Amino acid sequence: MKKIYLKQNKEKPVIRRHPWIFSGAIQKKDRDIAPGEIVSVCGINGMHLGYGYYNAKTPIAVRLLSFGNQKVDADYLRGLIHAAVEKRTGSLLLQNTDSCRLIFSEGDYLPGLIVDSYARHLVMQSVTRGIERMKNTLVTILIDLLRPESIYERSEHEGRALEGMKPVQKQIYGTTPAEIVMHENDMSFLVNVREGQKTGFYLDQRDNRQLVRRLARDADVLNLFSYTGGFSVAAALGGARKTVSVDASSDALEMARKNMDRNHAKTSAGFIKADVFEFLRSGRIDSNLVIIDPPALAKTRASIQSACRGYKDLHLQIAATCPKNSLILTCSCSRFINMDLFQMLIFEAFADAGRGASIIGKYYQPCDHPTSIFCPETEYLKTILLRLD
Ligand code: SAH
Repeated sequence: MKKIYLKQNKEKPVIRRHPWIFSGAIQKKDRDIAPGEIVSVCGINGMHLGYGYYNAKTPIAVRLLSFGNQKVDADYLRGLIHAAVEKRTGSLLLQNTDSCRLIFSEGDYLPGLIVDSYARHLVMQSVTRGIERMKNTLVTILIDLLRPESIYERSEHEGRALEGMKPVQKQIYGTTPAEIVMHENDMSFLVNVREGQKTGFYLDQRDNRQLVRRLARDADVLNLFSYTGGFSVAAALGGARKTVSVDASSDALEMARKNMDRNHAKTSAGFIKADVFEFLRSGRIDSNLVIIDPPALAKTRASIQSACRGYKDLHLQIAATCPKNSLILTCSCSRFINMDLFQMLIFEAFADAGRGASIIGKYYQPCDHPTSIFCPETEYLKTILLRLD
């Protein structure tokens, strides 16, 4: 097996099980390592520290799959997948749903692999060359362990370009229906795995949907960046008087309408196709429960500044227009913006608008998107619940 050697003093994070090695930490390496090939990672003195896959093209040159002498073979991968599945099936935090994220990349010690399960139909995302090389083995293990109805691949992550790979979308196993019906806490949602965004549905908002349901009684709800209406359905079933879903995608809004109908929501429901930033500038808001869940405004480190302006702009409009005592559930799924920075941007917006508000809750991603204790970068979804003065 080929080897890479770390620079002096760069072993410590590996010994402490951080799975990333940046290219700048590498002192020397064997020749002709293929993209995605598994290598032995060694200290400068030649001591083996762990196994991971290498790609010369990416800033993270190695992603470690095992530490110490544990070989990365099919049995080991099977053990990792089994452990990830057990964590979900055995979790008391994950009851009353037939759908969840089964494998969350570094959060489940499988960097570069995401697998979502929607009512026994799996959707797989391979983000790295390393995972790409192991894909057949991984698929065989998933079929053997889970006996799914189908597996569909949606490998379109922006990270693939960096890895030197094209986007891929295809049926891998069985037949995935055009629309899957999934169930979550007495709600049901249609998921279009082929044409929907990401893998089709935002499983990571499950706990926040329940929160909205608890807060929605008699509320006038504005669901900004609604996608297929997850929060609108939750609000309606929680007793909202009215919901308005706003999104730039007419396909998403069409699905939101179907989702409202299939849940027999009696609430009056509006659907507005608009750019949220323009929508907010166009007039007063009379809703008293507002959900703000934009796409990741900072997709890269380089876009942090413009993303900050975006988050601030959204909250300025909210601070300037929402009625007294409104509740605002606001989310950021940008990996590069942490909770403290997110709170700071909200603070700046309210300070500029001269509006008072209190933070009455702070939340993170749900248990099927686990944050690895060894890799805090796996934390990405931040939510703040505000009450306006
Ligand atoms: N809240 C949703 C997920 C939101 S994903 C849920 O719980 O399911 C982000 C959504 O924002 C996508 O549906 C996308 O179409 C929409 N979007 C992105 N930019 C937008 C913009 N500027 N104005 C309106 N919608 C936008």
